[in-house]
Amino acid sequence: MATIFDKIIAREIPADIVHEDENVLAFRDINPQAPVHVLFIPKRPVATLNDLAPGDEVVVGRLVTAAAAYAKAEGFADSGYRVVINCNGDGGQSVYHIHLHLLAGRAMAWPPG
Ligand code: IMP
Repeated sequence: MATIFDKIIAREIPADIVHEDENVLAFRDINPQAPVHVLFIPKRPVATLNDLAPGDEVVVGRLVTAAAAYAKAEGFADSGYRVVINCNGDGGQSVYHIHLHLLAGRAMAWPPG
């Protein structure tokens, strides 16, 4: 099932892209929840964390390492940031193409809502 993120990957709809490599695309969230709110997605669509298969560890690993590299490059790695992957309804997932939220630029509360 295609999602809006497939359209962003295909450049069929615009996005504020901040990082791209062979496997990962990152763009600013359209409804930011922090001064920095970037989504890191695999170019290969996987709907949810539950759909990862053995051998797919690299799919999520690339999102995490790309987000950490972005935090360092943008200068907020030391002050801190949060990464989140929501899964299914109770997890708050609304787009069924795995994505890692990178939130930064303010102190985060815990527990999350
Ligand atoms: P989820 O709730 O974890 O699935 O996160 C989906 C995120 O995608 C939300 O934070 C939305 O604001 C964001 N989003 C939805 N459509 C777009 C878009 O077209 N561009 C950028 N972000 C989007």
